[in-house]
Amino acid sequence: MRQLVFATNNQHKTNEVRTLLAGQYEVLNLTDIGCTTDIPETADSFAGNAELKSSFVAENFKLDCFADDSGLEVEALNNEPGIYSARYAGGRSDEANLNLVLQKLEGVQNRKARFKTVVSLIRDGEKFLFEGTIAGTIREKPTGGNGFGYDPIFQPDGYDCTFAEMDMAEKNQISHRAIAMRKLIAFLKEEAV
Ligand code: IMP
Repeated sequence: MRQLVFATNNQHKTNEVRTLLAGQYEVLNLTDIGCTTDIPETADSFAGNAELKSSFVAENFKLDCFADDSGLEVEALNNEPGIYSARYAGGRSDEANLNLVLQKLEGVQNRKARFKTVVSLIRDGEKFLFEGTIAGTIREKPTGGNGFGYDPIFQPDGYDCTFAEMDMAEKNQISHRAIAMRKLIAFLKEEAV
């Protein structure tokens, strides 16, 4: 069976994709291939960072690979935190990050935001990109205890709760990551036939 690396150390993400591609691809992650390098994410876009990760594996391990990169873009903040989402407030604290967004939006009327994921695939040396976005608004205060990151302040359009108030299965149906991953899976299934 054809091998495909998902450039992540997250076992949960790997298992999800593995199930979706069962019978068509053998999905390996960074641990499976023995890649212990902290791959630099120094590009200025989600696509650039996803591509840095997938190319690192393709070049160093001579394997087909895909990688994802995500974040929150707030319209009134010139699309910040964007690629800085994980460390917006300096550290890796979700609470500090979302509080910084709330602080910068104090008194700001325009609360529009979106989550974005870009997946980069390198297959037989050819590069492909898949994108998923979900639009919403930033609440005045955090609510809900599920999820991670900016979930407690993000209310997707068409819902009256935040991502952190949804159960995981519901969020995972509509999220930016789910949309991008579905595009990748559909492409891979088409190509595998
Ligand atoms: P990653 O590229 O998927 O690791 O995401 C980078 C950062 O973006 C995370 O550390 C979070 O701060 C933020 N982020 C990405 N996806 C989500 C989400 O679904 N909910 C909340 N925050 C997210």
